[in-house]
Amino acid sequence: MSIFKKSEEKLQAETVEELRQTIASANMPSNVQQLANKELEMLSKISPSTAEYTIVLTYIDYLIGLPWDKKTEDNLDLERAENILNERHFGLSEIKERILEHLSVKILVRNKKPRILVVDDEKIVVKNLDRFLRKEGYSVTTALSGAEAFNKLDAFEFDLVMTDLKMQDIDGIDVIEKAKNKNADIQAIMITGYASVNSAIKAIKKGAFHYLKKPFKFEEVRATVQKALEKKSLTISTKSSVLCFTGPPGTGKTSIGKAVADALGRKFARISVGGMKDEAEIMGHRRTYAGALPGRIIDEIHRTDVSNPVLMLDEIDKIGQDFKGDPSSALLEALDPEQNNNFIDHYLDVPFDLSGVIFIVTANIADNMQDTLRDRMEVIEFSGYTEDEKKEIALRYLVPKQIHEKGLSDNPPEFTVDAVTKIIHEHTREAGIRNLERQIATVCRKIATGFVYQKNALQKIIVTPELVEKYLGPRKYYFEVADEENRVGVTTGLVWTEVGGAIIFVEAARMKGSGELILTGSLGDVMRESAQAALSYIRSNAGSLNIPYDFFEKQDIHVHVPAGAIPKDGPSAGATIAIALISLLTAHPARRDVAITGELTLTGRILPVGGIKEKLLAARQAGVKIIVLPLKNRVDVENLPDDVKKGLEVVHVDTIDEVVDRVLVK
Ligand code: ADP
Repeated sequence: MSIFKKSEEKLQAETVEELRQTIASANMPSNVQQLANKELEMLSKISPSTAEYTIVLTYIDYLIGLPWDKKTEDNLDLERAENILNERHFGLSEIKERILEHLSVKILVRNKKPRILVVDDEKIVVKNLDRFLRKEGYSVTTALSGAEAFNKLDAFEFDLVMTDLKMQDIDGIDVIEKAKNKNADIQAIMITGYASVNSAIKAIKKGAFHYLKKPFKFEEVRATVQKALEKKSLTISTKSSVLCFTGPPGTGKTSIGKAVADALGRKFARISVGGMKDEAEIMGHRRTYAGALPGRIIDEIHRTDVSNPVLMLDEIDKIGQDFKGDPSSALLEALDPEQNNNFIDHYLDVPFDLSGVIFIVTANIADNMQDTLRDRMEVIEFSGYTEDEKKEIALRYLVPKQIHEKGLSDNPPEFTVDAVTKIIHEHTREAGIRNLERQIATVCRKIATGFVYQKNALQKIIVTPELVEKYLGPRKYYFEVADEENRVGVTTGLVWTEVGGAIIFVEAARMKGSGELILTGSLGDVMRESAQAALSYIRSNAGSLNIPYDFFEKQDIHVHVPAGAIPKDGPSAGATIAIALISLLTAHPARRDVAITGELTLTGRILPVGGIKEKLLAARQAGVKIIVLPLKNRVDVENLPDDVKKGLEVVHVDTIDEVVDRVLVK
């Protein structure tokens, strides 16, 4: 037994020694190194057969393994970035432009010559500093008095002020105060011959970064200036670094994010925050818990092994409703450039600097995000693709990609335009192209299987609509509208959901009863209220609508919105519901191929609604001919590209009476 014990002790001592050396050479910040050594001290005193030993060992290992000072160098060649974005993505020109602008700002900030204001009433000091700093590559402005410095501060922007403390007129502290009032980000260095503790404290409170004592050595000046500006560039370059991509699934948010990372030469990782239920998933568990783990953010940093990857946080609008703790404050701690240079994961328990990370957040609908979060982000909206765009993307990107992935490159099948159109019409119904890609993948897979069965007898395959039918089966989707008859009490509406625009039908029926409004079809609160408002409008205007005043006394009215899968809420179905009711009560059928969207007021006005582009795309897909939109949405329509409006007649209305004229068949 004693031999056994001895060898175990020896092993432990070896492990501890090995770790000690690794810690010493791991380039950790000094506070982390201290912590690691403290833990190591503890480790050396615990028996290796205990669970605690493993916990401490794992922790030390984790600390050592984090990329405290590892970074990839950014490639800030804008032309290259543009090429990468274009090569991988069709269209999206506005989005690419915004991203390139975002990167340009980074480049400009990085390449800008820092501007320094030098203030001193000793001419020779100013002259010497001016000459030295210019040689160092800075842009320098000088002032020989406090008053002159005030004027220069009013007239120009500076990154750094270096000022003498004691001057004839206004003292250095006031100069710094003035500079900070104008721009809180400005850095300051106090130059003085009378360095005293008191004035030093005062200066630091005002935000002076450092002291330079006269007479100074140029080496010292160089180091101090560099240090001051280092802090400055960090705050600028990270300030706007949270991009938020919103839009329906399959519209390219993830792949553009990946392309941004590749364009910059950074590593890329994704974290899905949708459905997260516990703050610990973001912030980590405290080590006192059994089985404690770091949060996902630190874990991805650990995995990518750099402190400046592009981190994509997916589905931020779908954080679990029953989240333990406040999700937006947890996320802000990580994302907010003002605080994330000291991000503390509960497991790590020491700050990690996340300010080098570029965060890209995705959401289906920006409105679903908490305001505090949304305000910190630069939101870029992605929207659904038109049919023409889908065809282009399929033929130019998705088909070649799937051919390559399914090993068909040696004998690539050729997809005809008709075949792709058939897949789009009959096998997909979506704003993006995720399902389209999946269907193309299925076709390619079946072709590959065929080759293998025929022992690689390679004949050229042309994918025609017939072949699509053979491989994908009978059509799954129909034009919902074009095939329907006009009916009394049934109208077509357009809503905007997380997955893009969608067609809904509103059905109204009446029966003997005592004036009850029955609403079914799992409607949200806002939509239920819209239905009530629509009914009240009709009751109060029964005369002008040619409806008997007492219709609601002896009857119940039932409004139903089928298609359980579509989440139905929001005010934009108000006009659609009202027309279904008017159609029912006047017995005039409503046109099915006219789709209505708009909020209805109690006085019969139609108010503007959101998601116009998505709604138009969905309408066309469903075979709608005419769209009735609120007058105030006219600008939205005018700003849309022509191919979104192709084949649709758009009618703008201001009141419900105009909708009646357009939709009811008299
Ligand atoms: P999202 O993140 O918005 O759900 P993805 O980025 O996952 O969408 O896109 C789904 C697929 O469609 C990916 O394979 C992507 O490369 C492709 N894709 C999307 N938009 C385009 C586009 N404009 N050009 C080429 N491919 C695209």
